[in-house]
Amino acid sequence: MAKPIFQSAEFYKTIMRIQDIPKPVYPEVAFIGRSNVGKSSLINALLGKKNLARISSSPGKTRGINYYLVDQKYFFVDLPGYGFAKLPKNERMKWQRLIETYLTESQKLKLIALLIDSRHDLMDNDLEMARWLQYHERPFCILLTKTDKISKNSLNQTIDRYRSYFPDHHVLPFSIKAKNLIKSTALFIKESLS
Ligand code: GDP
Repeated sequence: MAKPIFQSAEFYKTIMRIQDIPKPVYPEVAFIGRSNVGKSSLINALLGKKNLARISSSPGKTRGINYYLVDQKYFFVDLPGYGFAKLPKNERMKWQRLIETYLTESQKLKLIALLIDSRHDLMDNDLEMARWLQYHERPFCILLTKTDKISKNSLNQTIDRYRSYFPDHHVLPFSIKAKNLIKSTALFIKESLS
C-alpha cells in the first residue's frame, strides 16, 4: 500500500485565550469555515484518523483553537467554525478577536484553508472572511467541501466560478469520500508547509 501523506497525528492542545497561543515552533496550516462545512471531517480524512477532530453533532459547538501535532513537525490548527448566530454578541466578539489575532500574528502560518461547501455559492460571511484574509495579505486557499454531493458538471462550474472570484488563490475540490481528492489536498498542504 502507498504510504499516507501524513503519517502521525496527535492532539496537542486547545487554546481559549490569546495569551495561550503557543510559540510558533512548527510550520502551521489553519482550517476555517462556517459551522458544519465539513472541517472536522476534512482534518480527520487528511490525517487518516477517525475521531481526532470532533465531528460536531450540533453546529457551532466546537470552541477554542485546537492544535494537532502532525509528523512531529507541523501544526494543523483547527479554528472555531463561524456563523454561530446563537452566541451572545460579546461571546462572538471574543472568538472573533482570538481568531483574528491568531491569523494576523502567527509567524509560522504558511497556509489558511478556507472551507466552503461546494453546494452553495459564496455566502456573506465566507466572502467577508476571504476579503479580510486578502486585506491582511494572508496566504489562503479555498477548499470546496462535500463535492460528492454534486454532479461532476456542476462541480466544474463551481470550481471555475471560485477561480474567477479568487484568481490569485488555489481552489481545490474535496470530499471525504474521494481518496484521490484526500491525497491531492494532503499533498498540496504538505508542499505549502515545506
Ligand atoms: P464541521 O462543523 O465543519 O466540523 O463539520 P463536520 O465535519 O462535523 O461535518 C458536518 C456534516 O457533514 C457531518 O454530518 C459530516 O458527516 C458531513 N460531511 C462532512 N464532509 C463530508 C463530505 O465530504 N461528504 C459528505 N457526503 N458528507 C460530509
